[in-house]
This record gives sequence, structure tokens and C-alpha cells, in this order.
Amino acid sequence: MEIINYTEEHKQFRQRLKNFLAKEVIPNIEKWEHDEITPKSIWAKLGKNGFLCTDVPQEYGGMGGDFLYSVIVCEEIAYSTIAGLLTYLHSDIIVPYISTFGTEDQKKKYLSKCVSGDIITAVAMTEPGAGSDLASLCTTAEDDGDHVVINGSKTFISNGINCDLVIVAAKDPVIENSYKAISLYIVEDGTPGFEKGQNLEKLGLHSQDTAELFFSKCRIPKSNLLGERGKGFYMLMQKLQQERLMITINALASGEFILEETIEYCKKTKDQGGLLAQNQSVQFKLVEMATDIKIGRTFIDKLIADHMEGKDVNTETSMAKFWVSEMANKVADRSLDLYGYSGWLEKCSVVRPWRDLRGTPIFGGTSQIMRKIIAKSMGL
Ligand SMILES: Cc1cc2nc3c(=O)[nH]c(=O)nc-3n(C[C@H](O)[C@H](O)[C@H](O)COP(=O)(O)OP(=O)(O)OC[C@H]3O[C@@H](n4cnc5c(N)ncnc54)[C@H](O)[C@@H]3O)c2cc1C
Repeated sequence: MEIINYTEEHKQFRQRLKNFLAKEVIPNIEKWEHDEITPKSIWAKLGKNGFLCTDVPQEYGGMGGDFLYSVIVCEEIAYSTIAGLLTYLHSDIIVPYISTFGTEDQKKKYLSKCVSGDIITAVAMTEPGAGSDLASLCTTAEDDGDHVVINGSKTFISNGINCDLVIVAAKDPVIENSYKAISLYIVEDGTPGFEKGQNLEKLGLHSQDTAELFFSKCRIPKSNLLGERGKGFYMLMQKLQQERLMITINALASGEFILEETIEYCKKTKDQGGLLAQNQSVQFKLVEMATDIKIGRTFIDKLIADHMEGKDVNTETSMAKFWVSEMANKVADRSLDLYGYSGWLEKCSVVRPWRDLRGTPIFGGTSQIMRKIIAKSMGL
């Protein structure tokens, strides 16, 4: 029995997306990797075709789909090896803050444009001195009548160049308790005092624009507060289950792609007279990779099902986040070993996912932080 039962509608949606990616995305990946950004036009095309923010209710312009549509988009983008097109960050991590915590006015103003791809979103938490320890962030949001004035800088913000809207975590400087001082604010691109820095040159995710963001006397109306004042930290925590699940689904799908490609390569590549796949030590490596991937798939599908039932699987999701992202990196390393020098060529199909996977044990909470969370949940 399958853990997840995809309906005929889900399967048709997946096929439509596969066709779209084959036509509109895959032929352009190398150019976008070289440009170190994806054009905004592809976001708009994805949106117009119903592939962004699939869970947004119909009254706000979405299709009101279940979580499996998010899973399908995340997986298919990973299978296409365009991990740099981080739509799951927009659709399933950032926009849900607006759907869940936004006022009616905020939802009406932003959601339909997030669905159509006319608005690309980013979330800005990390600062030069505040990564894992969010409580130590220094960006401030001071009261000024009907406005709030934001000062500070953020770094390593995905979609940092393309973004039209950023959700910024900032502290009220008069509140001493760091956790209770953090609120979330919606800052629109073009707001005076909000500047985007340079696109950072990264090890992987080359087609993903990642930037520093600067806020200098950036005045925004108080109506841009997202959710309750002083509840920013708790709102971020509340959404971590889905955030980590999405990152893990993406990592697993990349691992699955790499495994399939490697098996095919070994089946057709000759070595010392025979095919690589006939060599027992190669077979054993492939078997170990396949076993790891299968364990990961079984665990993730169970978590997807639990998440859809509204269960609290925060601890299990933290386990999956570190285990699957480390496992997928291990699978990618072994794959490269099996490819030999061919795996050292940029044109080799597993090279980009190998490189892109390296970020997954870092963002969304590092592997060490995941272990800390799990230890705490075990009463340690
Ligand atoms: C590709 C990519 C995209 C990103 N996108 C975004 C984004 O869109 N928005 C955003 O806000 N941020 C983003 N980030 C930043 C990311 O969230 C941080 O990198 C992450 O939270 C870790 O913080 P740090 O890099 O400052 O490392 P640090 O917190 O400085 O950690 C350094 C090392 O110390 C370890 N460590 C730290 N504290 C502890 C502890 N208490 N116990 C044990 N070990 C510890 C860590 O595990 C790590 O190995 C992105 C990062 C990457 C790589």
C-alpha cells in the first residue's frame, strides 16, 4: 500500500508541469546558471500556468489545492535540476506567512499577485551576526506615529534581487526580551530606504539570486506589520515544520534524480571489458545508494501524510531535514565517484545537483541545530 495516494488530478497536474518544464525551463537552465538569476518572466509564466502558490484559496486567486500539489512542484523542479528556481521558498514557505497571519487587506493586496508570479517574495531573517541564533538579530523597527522605521542589514537572502516583497524580521529596540521584541514586516521593493546589494557569487544554486538587503531609515506604514506585534519569533517557529519539510523533499528528489542517472550511466558505460554495472563493487555501491534513498522516501512520504493531517511532526521533520540532506549529499558524492573523470565535467547531468545539494544541510536550520532540537525533544 502506498503511503501517499495521488489522485488522477494530481497526476495530470504533474504531467502538465513536466511538459511545461521541458519546454520553458530545461532548455534555459545553462543560460540562467551563467546569468546567476532566473528571469522574472519565467516566474510569471509559472504563475499564469497555475504552478505557484497552489494552496492559496480561490477567493484570493489561487486554486486552493492540497499540500500534494506543493510536493509535486517541489519534486519536479528538483528532477529538472533547476534547484536555483526556488519556487517552493516563495509558494510554500513565504507566502503562507501572508495567507496565515495577514490581515484581510494584506491578503487582498498581495496573494493573487503572488499566485500569478507578478510578486516574487523573499524572507529576510539572517544577518551578518545572526544566523542560527535568530534572537541575536540587530535590525530594528522603531515606532514613528503611523509608521515604523526599519534600520539594519540582512544577508544571504534568496530571491534577494528578484523580490518585489520581503518579509523582514526586526526588533523593537525598547523591548528587552529578544524573543518578544521580534516582529515581521512587509517591505515592498521601491520603498525609500530599502536597497538591494549585489548578487552573491555562490558555490551552488547559481541560477538563484542571493543578496544582501539594506534598510536605512526605511519608513513603512504600520499596516505592513504582519501578524501580531512581538510575535514574529513564534510565527517563524510555527511555520518551520512546512519549511523544513519542503527543503527535505527538494533534497530527496535531487538524490533520486542522481541515483537514476547513475544507474543508467553504469548500465551503459564499459570498464575493463565489461559494463560498470556488472562489477560487483559498483553494484554494491548502487544498492547502498538505492537503500538510503528508499528509506528517505518512505520517511518523507509518511511525514507528508502526517503534515497533511495537521499532526505536530516538528521533531521528525528536524530528523528528516538533517538525515535526508546529509544522505542526499552522500549519494551525490558516491555518484561522482562512479562517474570517474566524466563526473568532473560541467556537462555531466549529476554535477549541478551535486553542487546544489551542498546548501541543504545549511539553510532552514543547520544539521547541528536540527540535532539540538531533537536532543531537547528527547529530554536531553
Ligand atoms: C543557499 C542559502 C540560502 C539562504 N537563504 C536565506 C534566506 O532566504 N533568508 C534568510 O534569512 N537566510 C537565508 N540563508 C541563511 C541561513 O538561514 C543561515 O546560513 C543558517 O541559518 C545558518 O546560519 P549561519 O550561516 O550564520 O551559520 P552560524 O549560525 O554562524 O553557524 C556556523 C556553524 O556553527 C554551528 N552552530 C551554530 N550554533 C550552534 C549551536 N548552538 N550548537 C551547535 N552548533 C552550532 C552551525 O551548525 C554551523 O555549522 C541562506 C543560506 C544559504 C546557504
